[in-house]
Amino acid sequence: MKIGIYGGTFNPIHTGHMHAAVQAIDTLGLDKLLMIPDRIAPHKQIPSGSPSPEQRLEMLRIAVEGYEKIQVSDMELKREGKSYTYLTVEALREEYPDAEIFLLMGTDMFLSFHTWMNPDRITAQATLAVMYRGEKGEEAKIEARKQEMEAAGVKVALIKNDTINISSTQLRRLIAFRCAGEFLPAGVGDYIREKGLYDSAADWRDLPMEALEPIVIRLLNPNRVAHVLGCRDTAVELAKHWGAEVDDAARAGILHDITKALDGPLQLTLCREYGTILDGFGYKYPKTLHALTGSLVAERIFGEDEAVVSAICHHTTGKADMTLLEKIIYVADYMEPCRNFPGVEELRALAFSDITAALKLGLEMTLRHLANLGDEVSPASQAALEFLNS
Ligand code: FE
Ligand code: FE
Repeated sequence: MKIGIYGGTFNPIHTGHMHAAVQAIDTLGLDKLLMIPDRIAPHKQIPSGSPSPEQRLEMLRIAVEGYEKIQVSDMELKREGKSYTYLTVEALREEYPDAEIFLLMGTDMFLSFHTWMNPDRITAQATLAVMYRGEKGEEAKIEARKQEMEAAGVKVALIKNDTINISSTQLRRLIAFRCAGEFLPAGVGDYIREKGLYDSAADWRDLPMEALEPIVIRLLNPNRVAHVLGCRDTAVELAKHWGAEVDDAARAGILHDITKALDGPLQLTLCREYGTILDGFGYKYPKTLHALTGSLVAERIFGEDEAVVSAICHHTTGKADMTLLEKIIYVADYMEPCRNFPGVEELRALAFSDITAALKLGLEMTLRHLANLGDEVSPASQAALEFLNS
């Protein structure tokens, strides 16, 4: 009998997990796959506002319904203290003395396997089954480590996993933005909504700034936070200087990159789920869509008014005939204190003497940068410069 162990936080379980599980069963010829949520993962911290361990377990149970070979086990949830993998493997060995046991893991876990608690006690009982994505350089690294380990008598199996491109971290963002549908196994989305998990039932419309800020920070990529706060502060300064609506500037500034953490394919997911029709440029350069998707989220999730929504929508490309607030957000994004590129000081000075000239300089610098990269210029940026030059 061949048994696979698939552990993780499953916070929440998603179609990527299910896809990997089925692929492991098929590739390794497993008779049974145990999916085991951990109480406190030794390798990661569970973000605050997460469901209880029992709720994560329940979502797993819902997800695996109808999968004959997959079972959910609460053995790690029931165990006191930290859920170390060697304890799980040894417990299963006791239950199934004659089974061949496979421990599923991803590339990062495999490469750091030597740092786990009692790795020898794991490999004494189980074959390590590494699910890798086939990213550049990944296979060579895994292959090298595999040979090292096999020389030391460890059994390693590789599974090339044409995985669905989603992580639980990204999925939690999609849930907050109400566009996670395609990544949630049947029934799990209903459960999440019913229990209001992962902010799925939160009402974030028209929040005061103090309440908005921590929510935005939670949804951003941590390395974007300083930029976003800098952009907000710069936008406020410029709004005071030029007599624009200061509150709108602050809100547009803090929300302008709200969807930036989503990669290109997930930008397209959001557009699809929101029913947004895209132009060819958007499909070709989906990462530029964060301005559009940010504006959609600002409108639908945060209830922002048209002026703010429009400033977010045009913050990367600009457009013809921009409002003062749109100019301010474009320029603030370009010159906030974290930015340092040749010419930024000129732009900073110009922003307080002639905001339209600063916008134009920003557009010109972007065009030069794109030309150096050999990338296309968006139709909106072209229209913006044509307007300013006419
Ligand atoms: Fe941006
Ligand atoms: Fe930005």
